[in-house]
Amino acid sequence: MNADVTTGTVDTHCPYCSLQCGMSLRPEQGRVQVVERPAFPVNRGALCGKGRTAAEVLDQRVRLTEPLVRDRGTLRPATWDEALDRVAAGLDSARSVYGDDAVGVFGGGGLTNEKAYALGKFARVALGTSQIDYNGRFCMSSAAAAHGRAFGLDRGMPFPLADVARTGCVILVGSNLAETMPPALRYLTELRENGGKLIVVDPRRTKTAEAADLHLAPRPGTDLALALGLLHLVVAQGRTDEAFIAERTTGWPEARAAAMAHWPELVERITGVPVPELREAVAMFCDADSSMVLTARGPEQQAKGTDTVGAWINLCLATGRAGRELSGYGCLTGQGNGQGGREHGQKADQLPGYRKLDDPAAREHVAAVWGVSPDSLPGPGRSAYELLDALGTDVRALLLMGSNPVVSAPRAAHVEERIRSLDFLAVADVVLSETAALADVVLPVTQWAEETGTTTNLEGRVLLRRRAVDPPPGVRTDLAVLNGLAARLGHEKGFPADPEEVFEELRRASEGGAADYSGISYRRIASEDGVFWPCPDETHPGTPRLFLDRFATPDGRARFVPVSHRASAEEADAEYPVLLTTGRVLSQYQSGAQTRRVAELNAAAPGPFVQIHPLLAERYGIGEGDRVAVESRRGRAVAPARLTGTIRSDTVFMPFHWPGEGRANTLTNPALDPTSRMPEFKVCAVRLSRVAEA
Ligand code: SF4
Repeated sequence: MNADVTTGTVDTHCPYCSLQCGMSLRPEQGRVQVVERPAFPVNRGALCGKGRTAAEVLDQRVRLTEPLVRDRGTLRPATWDEALDRVAAGLDSARSVYGDDAVGVFGGGGLTNEKAYALGKFARVALGTSQIDYNGRFCMSSAAAAHGRAFGLDRGMPFPLADVARTGCVILVGSNLAETMPPALRYLTELRENGGKLIVVDPRRTKTAEAADLHLAPRPGTDLALALGLLHLVVAQGRTDEAFIAERTTGWPEARAAAMAHWPELVERITGVPVPELREAVAMFCDADSSMVLTARGPEQQAKGTDTVGAWINLCLATGRAGRELSGYGCLTGQGNGQGGREHGQKADQLPGYRKLDDPAAREHVAAVWGVSPDSLPGPGRSAYELLDALGTDVRALLLMGSNPVVSAPRAAHVEERIRSLDFLAVADVVLSETAALADVVLPVTQWAEETGTTTNLEGRVLLRRRAVDPPPGVRTDLAVLNGLAARLGHEKGFPADPEEVFEELRRASEGGAADYSGISYRRIASEDGVFWPCPDETHPGTPRLFLDRFATPDGRARFVPVSHRASAEEADAEYPVLLTTGRVLSQYQSGAQTRRVAELNAAAPGPFVQIHPLLAERYGIGEGDRVAVESRRGRAVAPARLTGTIRSDTVFMPFHWPGEGRANTLTNPALDPTSRMPEFKVCAVRLSRVAEA
């Protein structure tokens, strides 16, 4: 069932996080009501506050309803023709003066599969630029890189979320899903009700950690050492699965040697986690018949994120906890289409179907679908932070869709200054975000309930979001924007505005690729309420569980990669003696561009704060509610103190959802992981002081 014409109820999915909860929308007294949809298996009707209030952003009073163009420094209303003409001219002018790569394109992990696909094609075909990347690079790219390196394929979770409730032990690393995706907490609750164990690794005693059997609280940036310490104990206690290692993996001797260099006492010194707790974790993990490791942004958003995730994968492989039912490694992707958004070509180094841009066969396949020469396709471009850092110098004009880097990028004051230095900026968004407010042209676009499109949730389940209401008359879809711009750039064909037409082309482009959608259609998704990729033909049932027979590497074996602990890019020192870690709160989402406009969510989480241990606060004479200046080598942020014993006494925490003086990303470090190019959001060195009241 999808659309009930008698009640006007339409089944769809939440616009926010990667759980993509099922919900229904129903018109009621002139407004759209969100109602529960218990039949959808992932959330079974449950919604968090963000999902329940999602329809508030449809209100015309909080969103853009007409194009804006900048004249003499001020944004003023314009017609669509004028706005699109100005964007095409702005992009084309940079191209003709400085070359194709002087134009950048920046996408988002919330864009539907169709939009991500069309944006990648637009950049490479209509603009001829290599300079495209997206904000998903800031989300789970380290897990994606580690997944691909070990298993030959990156699908965040290679098993359905429901398996989590039936395994024997879960180590949850750097995820506070009780706040980021509350309906998923039930799977952990069911796990424990079924007799399974939950271990949470987090420097803070979060609500999720409160629900655990064991909470390990390592110093930020040391969870790589923690995983190695656990693997050391596994080996020392003879708890490896030698048959699995011999039959289904390669590279164990080197990975084993690296782990054996991290003896438990050393790991205790590095991480602050006592050896008995390490032993307890190993016992829980290995005593269970099946076990999983799930990671999220904690281990991933580090300058050694790929190796950190790799260390947890090595733990799974050494214990035979991968490629088997109810066991394995999974990444809890964050953004709404964090999974699909990275599969269809808006990444700097990839083409649709999760193909590599520097692979000649991949270029040939995709070029044939696009009707262009493989030689005309540009090569890989800069990663997200490197692209933002090049604005105003090598990259002179930017088209940005579905992202708000002024708030969400690391070293945000510098990124804001780079954006201000552009010759030309066009932003397509639903609301006037902090980044859109800097644009030369703002294009008001439709949003989730006003358009149809597919997303792929954290399990690799491809879903259909359906149009449920008419958009305001002044807005257009992102696909219509690309269609209009492409036509102005001389590409009358090849950029359809109809989402199903784009999806049909995406299917062909993905055929034979790692993320093969060729057997998935709108009709199938609608009748089956989601289809897992890979799905190579229309009779194929889809693939809820990967790697049960073989891994996706050329020899079918998973690859151990030897990794060693190393310091964070910035450690605490005499000048900056405290560690800062950043994250999320229950009632805001990402840069807050949408959720800060919802009264109920804003009331629950009205602004930034600094979480600080009472002992640390005492050292600086800081009391509850005092304004605290947090300074790093990149800038200064000010926010009220929240004293709590649930955080380590050498670490402070700030959520990153707000702009202004409390912007946490003013402080964060853009040091990049060498493989994934992920910035180090999760740890940097800061100093604290109490701000005297005027
Ligand atoms: Fe939406 Fe995520 Fe909340 Fe579900 S958990 S309602 S998908 S924000």
